[in-house]
Amino acid sequence: MFVTELRFECYADTTITAAEQAINQLLEAWRANGQILGREFAVAFNDGEFKVRLLLPEKNSLSHKFNSAWAKQALLQLTQAKLLTPREKYIGQDINSEVSCIDTPSWQVLYTSYVHMCSPVRNGDNLLPIPLYRLPATFNGDHKRIIKWQTEWQACDELQMAAATQAEFAALTELSTVESDLFRRGWDLRGRIEFLTKIPTYYYLYRVGGNSKQDELDRVCPKCGSANWKLAEPLLDMFQFKCDHCRIVSNISWDYL
Ligand SMILES: [Zn+2]
Repeated sequence: MFVTELRFECYADTTITAAEQAINQLLEAWRANGQILGREFAVAFNDGEFKVRLLLPEKNSLSHKFNSAWAKQALLQLTQAKLLTPREKYIGQDINSEVSCIDTPSWQVLYTSYVHMCSPVRNGDNLLPIPLYRLPATFNGDHKRIIKWQTEWQACDELQMAAATQAEFAALTELSTVESDLFRRGWDLRGRIEFLTKIPTYYYLYRVGGNSKQDELDRVCPKCGSANWKLAEPLLDMFQFKCDHCRIVSNISWDYL
Protein backbone atom coordinates (compact mmCIF):
# COMPACT_ATOMS: atom_id res chain seq x y z
CA MET A 1 0.00 0.00 0.00
CA PHE A 2 1.03 3.56 -0.56
CA VAL A 3 0.98 6.83 1.34
CA THR A 4 0.01 10.02 -0.39
CA GLU A 5 -0.65 13.57 0.70
CA LEU A 6 -3.48 15.68 -0.64
CA ARG A 7 -3.42 19.45 -0.52
CA PHE A 8 -6.63 21.47 -0.84
CA GLU A 9 -6.13 25.16 -1.56
CA CYS A 10 -8.79 27.79 -1.00
CA TYR A 11 -9.23 30.11 -3.99
CA ALA A 12 -11.65 32.50 -2.30
CA ASP A 13 -12.96 33.26 1.15
CA THR A 14 -14.59 30.26 2.72
CA THR A 15 -15.30 28.96 6.21
CA ILE A 16 -13.38 26.15 7.79
CA THR A 17 -16.66 24.34 8.41
CA ALA A 18 -17.71 24.44 4.75
CA ALA A 19 -14.28 23.32 3.58
CA GLU A 20 -14.10 20.51 6.13
CA GLN A 21 -17.54 19.24 5.18
CA ALA A 22 -16.65 19.18 1.50
CA ILE A 23 -13.34 17.41 2.16
CA ASN A 24 -14.93 14.88 4.50
CA GLN A 25 -17.60 14.07 1.91
CA LEU A 26 -14.91 13.33 -0.63
CA LEU A 27 -12.98 11.14 1.83
CA GLU A 28 -16.17 9.22 2.74
CA ALA A 29 -16.92 8.63 -0.93
CA TRP A 30 -13.40 7.35 -1.61
CA ARG A 31 -13.50 5.15 1.49
CA ALA A 32 -16.84 3.62 0.43
CA ASN A 33 -15.27 2.70 -2.90
CA GLY A 34 -12.09 1.21 -1.40
CA GLN A 35 -9.89 3.94 -2.92
CA ILE A 36 -8.54 5.00 0.47
CA LEU A 37 -8.02 2.69 3.44
CA GLY A 38 -8.57 3.14 7.16
CA ARG A 39 -11.22 5.00 9.08
CA GLU A 40 -9.68 8.10 10.64
CA PHE A 41 -8.37 10.93 8.54
CA ALA A 42 -6.65 13.87 10.19
CA VAL A 43 -7.32 16.92 8.05
CA ALA A 44 -4.90 19.69 9.01
CA PHE A 45 -5.43 23.37 8.30
CA ASN A 46 -2.46 25.71 8.01
CA ASP A 47 -1.65 28.83 6.06
CA GLY A 48 -4.81 28.85 3.96
CA GLU A 49 -4.71 25.23 2.90
CA PHE A 50 -5.85 21.82 4.11
CA LYS A 51 -3.66 18.74 4.06
CA VAL A 52 -4.49 15.10 4.64
CA ARG A 53 -2.36 11.95 4.46
CA LEU A 54 -4.00 8.89 2.99
CA LEU A 55 -3.26 5.22 2.62
CA LEU A 56 -3.97 3.83 -0.86
CA PRO A 57 -4.14 0.23 -2.13
CA GLU A 58 -2.22 1.24 -5.28
CA LYS A 59 -0.25 4.29 -6.34
CA ASN A 60 -3.02 5.37 -8.73
CA SER A 61 -6.06 4.56 -6.55
CA LEU A 62 -7.27 8.16 -6.76
CA SER A 63 -7.30 8.20 -10.58
CA HIS A 64 -10.48 9.69 -11.97
CA LYS A 65 -11.26 6.44 -13.81
CA PHE A 66 -11.77 4.64 -10.48
CA ASN A 67 -14.07 7.28 -8.96
CA SER A 68 -17.66 6.37 -8.14
CA ALA A 69 -20.49 8.75 -9.07
CA TRP A 70 -20.49 9.87 -5.43
CA ALA A 71 -16.75 10.66 -5.50
CA LYS A 72 -17.14 12.58 -8.76
CA GLN A 73 -19.98 14.58 -7.24
CA ALA A 74 -17.95 15.24 -4.07
CA LEU A 75 -15.07 16.55 -6.21
CA LEU A 76 -17.44 18.96 -7.94
CA GLN A 77 -18.77 20.13 -4.59
CA LEU A 78 -15.31 21.24 -3.52
CA THR A 79 -15.87 24.22 -5.81
CA GLN A 80 -18.90 25.30 -3.81
CA ALA A 81 -16.72 25.34 -0.72
CA LYS A 82 -14.22 27.49 -2.67
CA LEU A 83 -11.58 24.78 -2.81
CA LEU A 84 -9.43 23.87 -5.80
CA THR A 85 -9.17 20.30 -7.03
CA PRO A 86 -6.73 18.63 -4.59
CA ARG A 87 -3.09 18.22 -5.56
CA GLU A 88 -1.51 14.90 -4.79
CA LYS A 89 2.02 14.36 -3.54
CA TYR A 90 3.31 10.80 -3.38
CA ILE A 91 5.02 10.11 -0.06
CA GLY A 92 6.10 6.47 -0.35
CA GLN A 93 5.27 2.84 0.15
CA ASP A 94 3.75 1.77 3.45
CA ILE A 95 6.19 -0.72 4.98
CA ASN A 96 3.60 -2.43 7.17
CA SER A 97 1.09 -3.54 4.61
CA GLU A 98 0.44 -6.00 1.84
CA VAL A 99 0.76 -5.32 -1.86
CA SER A 100 -2.41 -5.34 -3.92
CA CYS A 101 -3.27 -7.87 -6.55
CA ILE A 102 -4.53 -7.02 -10.01
CA ASP A 103 -4.15 -10.46 -11.62
CA THR A 104 -7.37 -12.31 -12.41
CA PRO A 105 -7.79 -14.96 -9.72
CA SER A 106 -9.17 -18.47 -10.24
CA TRP A 107 -11.21 -17.95 -7.06
CA GLN A 108 -11.74 -15.24 -4.46
CA VAL A 109 -12.41 -15.17 -0.75
CA LEU A 110 -13.99 -12.64 1.58
CA TYR A 111 -11.46 -12.57 4.39
CA THR A 112 -10.30 -9.99 6.90
CA SER A 113 -9.03 -9.67 10.48
CA TYR A 114 -8.74 -6.83 12.92
CA VAL A 115 -5.14 -6.15 11.90
CA HIS A 116 -5.86 -5.88 8.17
CA MET A 117 -6.63 -2.48 6.69
CA CYS A 118 -6.64 -3.71 3.11
CA SER A 119 -9.56 -4.91 0.99
CA PRO A 120 -11.41 -7.93 2.43
CA VAL A 121 -11.78 -9.40 -1.07
CA ARG A 122 -8.71 -11.57 -1.58
CA ASN A 123 -7.27 -13.42 -4.53
CA GLY A 124 -7.77 -17.10 -3.66
CA ASP A 125 -4.54 -18.09 -5.41
CA ASN A 126 -2.25 -16.03 -3.19
CA LEU A 127 -4.46 -14.26 -0.62
CA LEU A 128 -3.41 -10.84 -1.88
CA PRO A 129 -6.05 -8.12 -1.44
CA ILE A 130 -7.99 -7.02 -4.52
CA PRO A 131 -8.73 -3.26 -4.45
CA LEU A 132 -12.51 -2.91 -4.25
CA TYR A 133 -12.73 -0.21 -6.94
CA ARG A 134 -11.36 -2.75 -9.42
CA LEU A 135 -14.50 -4.84 -8.93
CA PRO A 136 -17.84 -3.85 -10.46
CA ALA A 137 -19.82 -1.75 -7.95
CA THR A 138 -21.60 -4.16 -5.60
CA PHE A 139 -24.51 -1.92 -4.49
CA ASN A 140 -25.60 1.66 -5.21
CA GLY A 141 -22.54 2.58 -7.22
CA ASP A 142 -19.78 1.57 -4.80
CA HIS A 143 -18.75 -0.90 -2.08
CA LYS A 144 -20.04 0.75 1.07
CA ARG A 145 -21.78 -2.44 2.24
CA ILE A 146 -18.53 -4.41 2.02
CA ILE A 147 -16.66 -1.72 3.97
CA LYS A 148 -19.40 -1.68 6.61
CA TRP A 149 -19.36 -5.48 6.89
CA GLN A 150 -15.55 -5.43 7.20
CA THR A 151 -15.63 -2.75 9.91
CA GLU A 152 -18.07 -4.79 11.99
CA TRP A 153 -16.22 -8.07 11.42
CA GLN A 154 -13.01 -6.40 12.62
CA ALA A 155 -14.75 -4.93 15.67
CA CYS A 156 -15.97 -8.41 16.65
CA ASP A 157 -12.51 -9.85 16.00
CA GLU A 158 -10.90 -7.28 18.25
CA LEU A 159 -13.37 -8.03 21.06
CA GLN A 160 -12.85 -11.78 20.88
CA MET A 161 -9.05 -11.52 20.58
CA ALA A 162 -8.91 -9.24 23.63
CA ALA A 163 -10.97 -11.81 25.58
CA ALA A 164 -11.54 -9.33 28.36
CA THR A 165 -15.31 -8.77 28.35
CA GLN A 166 -18.59 -10.67 28.11
CA ALA A 167 -18.92 -9.21 24.61
CA GLU A 168 -16.22 -11.69 23.57
CA PHE A 169 -18.78 -14.50 23.33
CA ALA A 170 -21.35 -12.60 21.29
CA ALA A 171 -18.56 -11.42 18.98
CA LEU A 172 -17.25 -14.95 18.51
CA THR A 173 -20.75 -16.18 17.61
CA GLU A 174 -20.91 -13.52 14.89
CA LEU A 175 -17.56 -14.60 13.43
CA SER A 176 -17.91 -18.37 13.65
CA THR A 177 -21.54 -19.42 13.07
CA VAL A 178 -23.64 -19.53 9.93
CA GLU A 179 -26.68 -18.28 11.85
CA SER A 180 -25.14 -14.88 12.62
CA ASP A 181 -25.94 -11.52 11.05
CA LEU A 182 -22.33 -11.04 9.99
CA PHE A 183 -22.35 -14.40 8.22
CA ARG A 184 -25.66 -13.75 6.47
CA ARG A 185 -24.60 -10.32 5.24
CA GLY A 186 -21.07 -11.36 4.29
CA TRP A 187 -22.28 -14.49 2.54
CA ASP A 188 -24.77 -12.45 0.49
CA LEU A 189 -22.00 -9.99 -0.39
CA ARG A 190 -19.73 -12.77 -1.60
CA GLY A 191 -22.64 -14.04 -3.75
CA ARG A 192 -23.04 -10.59 -5.23
CA ILE A 193 -19.30 -10.38 -5.99
CA GLU A 194 -19.36 -13.82 -7.58
CA PHE A 195 -22.37 -12.86 -9.72
CA LEU A 196 -20.71 -9.63 -10.91
CA THR A 197 -17.20 -10.99 -11.51
CA LYS A 198 -18.16 -14.55 -12.62
CA ILE A 199 -15.33 -15.78 -10.38
CA PRO A 200 -16.14 -18.33 -7.63
CA THR A 201 -16.13 -16.35 -4.39
CA TYR A 202 -16.01 -17.92 -0.94
CA TYR A 203 -16.74 -16.76 2.58
CA TYR A 204 -14.17 -17.36 5.30
CA LEU A 205 -15.74 -18.75 8.46
CA TYR A 206 -13.60 -18.27 11.56
CA ARG A 207 -13.09 -21.26 13.84
CA VAL A 208 -11.64 -21.51 17.34
CA GLY A 209 -12.32 -23.77 20.35
CA GLY A 210 -13.75 -27.29 20.09
CA ASN A 211 -13.23 -30.42 22.20
CA SER A 212 -10.39 -32.27 20.48
CA LYS A 213 -8.28 -32.27 17.36
CA GLN A 214 -10.14 -35.34 16.07
CA ASP A 215 -13.51 -33.68 16.61
CA GLU A 216 -12.24 -30.68 14.71
CA LEU A 217 -10.94 -32.79 11.83
CA ASP A 218 -14.34 -34.50 11.66
CA ARG A 219 -16.21 -31.20 11.60
CA VAL A 220 -18.81 -31.06 8.84
CA CYS A 221 -19.82 -28.06 6.77
CA PRO A 222 -22.02 -26.04 9.13
CA LYS A 223 -24.31 -24.98 6.29
CA CYS A 224 -25.03 -28.21 4.38
CA GLY A 225 -23.69 -30.87 6.78
CA SER A 226 -21.31 -32.38 4.23
CA ALA A 227 -18.17 -34.13 5.50
CA ASN A 228 -16.54 -33.83 2.09
CA TRP A 229 -15.36 -30.31 2.66
CA LYS A 230 -12.12 -31.36 4.43
CA LEU A 231 -9.04 -30.84 2.23
CA ALA A 232 -6.05 -33.19 2.11
CA GLU A 233 -3.72 -30.21 2.41
CA PRO A 234 -4.66 -26.78 3.72
CA LEU A 235 -5.04 -24.13 1.04
CA LEU A 236 -2.66 -21.18 1.50
CA ASP A 237 -1.54 -22.82 4.79
CA MET A 238 -4.78 -21.68 6.26
CA PHE A 239 -8.01 -23.11 4.92
CA GLN A 240 -8.39 -26.76 5.94
CA PHE A 241 -12.03 -26.89 4.87
CA LYS A 242 -13.73 -25.81 1.64
CA CYS A 243 -17.34 -26.45 0.69
CA ASP A 244 -17.78 -25.78 -3.02
CA HIS A 245 -21.54 -26.13 -2.72
CA CYS A 246 -21.92 -23.56 0.08
CA ARG A 247 -18.94 -21.42 -0.95
CA ILE A 248 -17.41 -21.48 2.52
CA VAL A 249 -13.78 -21.95 3.57
CA SER A 250 -12.69 -22.43 7.17
CA ASN A 251 -9.59 -23.18 9.23
CA ILE A 252 -9.01 -26.05 11.62
CA SER A 253 -9.70 -24.64 15.09
CA TRP A 254 -6.85 -22.34 16.08
CA ASP A 255 -6.70 -24.32 19.34
CA TYR A 256 -5.63 -27.51 17.50
CA LEU A 257 -3.22 -26.39 14.81
ZN1 LIG B 1 -21.63 -26.90 2.65
